[in-house]
Amino acid sequence: MAKYTAKHASGRPSTHKHKKQFGQNFLNNGRIIDQIVASIRPQENDHMVEIGPGEAALTRPLIERVKKLDIIEIDNDLIAPLKIQFATKPAFNLHHTDALKFDYGTLLSKTESNDKQSLRIVGNLPYNISSPLMFHLLTYAHCIQDMHFMLQKEVVDRITAQPGIKAYGRLSVMLQYSCQTESLFTVGPENFTPPPKVESAIVRLIPHATLPFVADDDKAFRDIVRQSFSQKRKTLRNNLKGWLSVEQIEACDLEPATRAETIPVEGFVKLANLYFQHGKFSS
Ligand code: SAM
Repeated sequence: MAKYTAKHASGRPSTHKHKKQFGQNFLNNGRIIDQIVASIRPQENDHMVEIGPGEAALTRPLIERVKKLDIIEIDNDLIAPLKIQFATKPAFNLHHTDALKFDYGTLLSKTESNDKQSLRIVGNLPYNISSPLMFHLLTYAHCIQDMHFMLQKEVVDRITAQPGIKAYGRLSVMLQYSCQTESLFTVGPENFTPPPKVESAIVRLIPHATLPFVADDDKAFRDIVRQSFSQKRKTLRNNLKGWLSVEQIEACDLEPATRAETIPVEGFVKLANLYFQHGKFSS
């Protein structure tokens, strides 16, 4: 736990003890904050959800622009200052809880449940929980309009990578199955207090209104993708040994001697559907 007295983004001095276990690297550069908000393009009638407001660097500009802002923060020490700061803002709705366990469906009003994909999720995410959090959020993709996240740049590169690129892997396939993904811009460590060790980047994820390729069974899809990438240097045929035969891989219009990193999302969906229909194959 480190105590920083550097000014936070509002210009006021901060005496908050930054907690490493909560990934607390707070934005300190107004220009970057403006750039993030401009990319999000909040509209008055949007229903925004911010994960991890911290000392409200993003919360302050967002709350001025939207009628509804749900905020999810885990750190006890930040709750009272947030409540005080936004006491007069009707849009503000604070949830003191763990974003990994939160049921995002409960945020929808009765009218919104009919109006699909209404939530707009944003957050400068704690890097240690970013992948599990995105996987959790994907289970609510049917009620999410879009997501804008600050993540480690390396993670954004993996999320947005196309087949054949070194960064292409399980995260790329799983996220691109559900969402359109776009890397927006990078943010250097000097724009945070305390500075993280790595570069960061903003990613935009837009859940597909209709999935371009549909897996018959989510678990079979997850399992096939995980298994296909289990040993990155091995071929599909080797990684899927005991799961799908060479003939079955070929029946999916895929070359068994290629590696998973060259296969587009559609290919994994075909493999998963065949695996789901025909059960576990043993060769
Ligand atoms: N949004 C602020 C900013 O940009 O300056 C703070 C971002 S900081 C990287 C991450 C924030 O997420 C912290 O406020 C931290 O306490 C909070 N956080 C960490 N783990 C969380 C969890 N599981 N659920 C909710 N909030 C969490």
